[in-house]
Amino acid sequence: MNSNTHVGIIGAGIVGVSSALWLQHKGFKVTLIDGNQPGSITSSGNACTIADYGCVPVNDPGLVKRLPQLMFGKNSPLSFDPWYAITHLPWMLSFLRNCQPSRVQTTINALGSILKDANDGLDPLIDITRTHDLFATNGCIYVYQNQQGFDSARAGNQARADQGVTFSELGKTDIHDLEPNLAPIFEKGLLFRNARQVLNPQSLVTRFFQHFIDSGGTYKNDHAREIIDNSTGLQVILHNGEKLAVDKTLVSCGAFSKQIAGCEASSLPLETERGYHIQYTGHQHLINRPIAWAEAGFYATPMNLGLRFAGTVEIAGLSDKKNSENLAYLSRMSRKMLNLPKQYDSDWLGYRPTLPDSLPVIGQSTTSKNIYFAFGHQHIGLTLAGISGKLVSELIAGEPLSSNIEPFRPDRF
Ligand SMILES: Cc1cc2nc3c(=O)[nH]c(=O)nc-3n(C[C@H](O)[C@H](O)[C@H](O)COP(=O)(O)OP(=O)(O)OC[C@H]3O[C@@H](n4cnc5c(N)ncnc54)[C@H](O)[C@@H]3O)c2cc1C
Repeated sequence: MNSNTHVGIIGAGIVGVSSALWLQHKGFKVTLIDGNQPGSITSSGNACTIADYGCVPVNDPGLVKRLPQLMFGKNSPLSFDPWYAITHLPWMLSFLRNCQPSRVQTTINALGSILKDANDGLDPLIDITRTHDLFATNGCIYVYQNQQGFDSARAGNQARADQGVTFSELGKTDIHDLEPNLAPIFEKGLLFRNARQVLNPQSLVTRFFQHFIDSGGTYKNDHAREIIDNSTGLQVILHNGEKLAVDKTLVSCGAFSKQIAGCEASSLPLETERGYHIQYTGHQHLINRPIAWAEAGFYATPMNLGLRFAGTVEIAGLSDKKNSENLAYLSRMSRKMLNLPKQYDSDWLGYRPTLPDSLPVIGQSTTSKNIYFAFGHQHIGLTLAGISGKLVSELIAGEPLSSNIEPFRPDRF
C-alpha cells in the first residue's frame, strides 16, 4: 500500500516538486525538504521553454572546432573561471570526450527518447494543479545570422529531425513576418511551430508546491546534509540536526546533489554549467514567442513579467558571484536583437546540473534499494521535470516504467 510508504524528497526545484506531485498522486506520504523557497534556485530563472526539440547536447562534435573562438572570442556565450577549470580538468576533459560523434549519437538517442514522453509527464501535473494559464503555445524560433551559422548547425538539426522533431526552415522575410520587431540581421531560421513555453517558471513551481501542500504534503524548510541507511531504517539528517525517518528518499537537488553525503550522488561527476538572464520589465510585447539566437547561445523569451534574455554557459562552480562580463554580453546582444533601453531591470545567475555525457541521472541507487535519484537535467530540466517525476513515482511504486531509463542509470560512470 503506497499510503504506508513515506518518501522524503531532498530538493524542491521543478524536478523535486514535480516528483512530489506524482508520488502524492499515487498515494504516497511525501515530505519535501529544502532550505530555500521551492523553485527559487535554477528553476526560477530559466528561458521558460518546453524544449521537447532539445535533444542535441552542447557537447556536440562542432564544439571542439569552435572551442578556441568560444574561449577567446570577444562575443562568446562560453566562459571559464581559469582557476576553476584547471582544478576541475578531469570533468572538462570528460565533457569534451563526449563530443565524439558516436557518443553524441548515444546522447541524442537517449534524450530524444525521453523528450518524446516529456508531455506525458507534464500535462497531468498542469491538469491537477490547474496551471494552464501559465503556458502559451506560440511556437519557438531559432535564428541564425548567416548561412555559415546555419550550416554549422545542420548536422544537429538533422539529428533532431531523425528523432521525429518537426520544424520548418525560415528565410529572412519569413522571420520578419513572424517577428516584425526583430532587427533585420538574421538570414536563416527554424520554426518549431507546436512548441510551448511557461509564462513564469517561479509561479509554476510555487503553484505546484501549493497544490502539494493543500493536498496534504509536508514541507521541511531546511537543507539535508546526509542520508543514513542502516539496519534501523532510513533517515535524512537535516542541517539543524533533525533526523527525519522515511521509507524511501529521492535526491533531486539539481547541481547541489553531490553535497548529500551517504549516497552515491556524492561520487558522481556532476558539475554546473552556470547560466545568466537579464530582464526588461514591460517589454514582452516586442516578440510573439521565444526566439533563440543560435550562434549567440541565448533565448529572448516573452513572459508575463517582461522580456527575459537567458542563456550563456560559464564553467565556474557553485559560488554565487556573478560575472559582470556575462551580463554585459547579454545586455549588448539583446540590444542588437531588439529596440530596448540601455539598462535592463534585473539579472540572475543559475546553475544547470550537468554530467559529462549531458544525460540526467534518473533511477534507483545501486548501493541502497531505498534511495533514488533525479538530477542532472542540464539545459532541459524544466522540460523533463514532469516525466522525471512520473518515472521516479513508477519506480518507487514498483510499476512498469513508461519510458526507458537505462541510459540514465547512476552507475554508468
Ligand atoms: C540560463 C538558463 C536557461 C535555461 N532554460 C531552460 C529552458 O528554456 N527550458 C528547460 O527545460 N530548461 C532550461 N534550463 C534548465 C533548467 O532550469 C534546469 O535544468 C532545472 O531548473 C533544474 O531543476 P532542478 O530541480 O534539478 O534544480 P534546481 O532548480 O536548482 O533545484 C534544486 C533545489 O535543491 C535545493 N537544495 C540544494 N541543496 C540542498 C540540500 N542540501 N538539501 C535540500 N535541498 C537542497 C535548492 O535549494 C533548490 O531548491 C535553463 C537553465 C539556465 C541556467
